[in-house]
Amino acid sequence: MKKYPALTVNHGLLKENMEQVISWCTEAGIDIAGVIKVTNGLASVADDYVKSGAKWIGSSRIEHLIRVKEAGIVIPKMMIRIPMISELDKLVEVCEYSLQSELSTLKELNKKAQAAGKVHNVILMADLGDLREGFIDTEEFISTAEYIEKELSFVHLAGIGTNLGCFGSVIPTKEKMNQLIEYAEAVEQAIGRKLEIISGGATSSLLPIFDGEMPDRINMLRIGSAVFTGALEDIRTSYGRKEMDALHDDSFTLEAEVIEVKVKPTYPIGELGVDAFGQTREYIDRGNRKRAILAIGRADYGDIGDILPQLEGVEVIGASGDHTILDVEDCKENIRPGDIVRFKLKYSAILYLTGSENVKIYEI
Ligand SMILES: *Cc1c(COP(=O)(O)O)cnc(C)c1O
Repeated sequence: MKKYPALTVNHGLLKENMEQVISWCTEAGIDIAGVIKVTNGLASVADDYVKSGAKWIGSSRIEHLIRVKEAGIVIPKMMIRIPMISELDKLVEVCEYSLQSELSTLKELNKKAQAAGKVHNVILMADLGDLREGFIDTEEFISTAEYIEKELSFVHLAGIGTNLGCFGSVIPTKEKMNQLIEYAEAVEQAIGRKLEIISGGATSSLLPIFDGEMPDRINMLRIGSAVFTGALEDIRTSYGRKEMDALHDDSFTLEAEVIEVKVKPTYPIGELGVDAFGQTREYIDRGNRKRAILAIGRADYGDIGDILPQLEGVEVIGASGDHTILDVEDCKENIRPGDIVRFKLKYSAILYLTGSENVKIYEI
């Protein structure tokens, strides 16, 4: 008997998405790091990336990468969140690559790598204005690169990178990519050799590829969301790129079970205070309407706007931690307790659902 809520991972669709994204990148001379953080580090998804041609597996949490290594995946693992000093032992043990932005961390990393008898590869992050991780000061960036090269024998400066479209919503334009290359050239001048990697960002950096404007020297992207949500989130939702239509938007789907169906008023009865999450809410009186309650809630998926019902005439109108309320008045099907409603999922819903211990994952 299937257990609900059920999250289905369709590996066939996922691999087709990965192959499509990798073929766009390959054509532009770019290798990809397959990022698995949104799946809570599913090793089977890392394996899909390997089979589709990714050159690295990346995640923001070392626990995910430990799982990937333990599953026998041998391509290089890359820690894509700046590591904590307290996890450097694990980092050296599990990952061949990491993104870095702090000299003190790099010095500790050098000691840990020496103790383990390994050389660890780093990509030094430049902040080009998105204002999350990375050096914002160019001189500090270059002097840190120089320091790694000259002083840290067990840390190898493999390259530099940047991240855009995460905090500051900054678009990865051709100009931003060229700026990153200028940073790389300044570092190369300082250390007297070529860098192997210039890592130009994440899914949003597909934009300059679509426009045929990606500069030659960008040779790595770290790709996550595109392969999981496809056109559904159209490169951070707002650029409207029809190229993305080539990607499936249902590689991850959710099914939840109906536990109550009743006709109820749409305006609450009584004096109004706050909802389950302490919010003051507005209600519109639409008369009596048929509603269904699902046995799943915000504790599992986060925000109601991130789950999209696939049954026509069904609207998600609200939720508490463990209940989701649907308006099914306009649905042609006669929904009853025990019925299953299916959803497509936005990025953050996949993130929460894969991490929810109440949600059973089915892989097909
Ligand atoms: C999450 C993340 C990525 C992947 O981002 P997507 O938008 O999911 O492709 C790449 N690099 C870093 C540093 C990240 O944190």
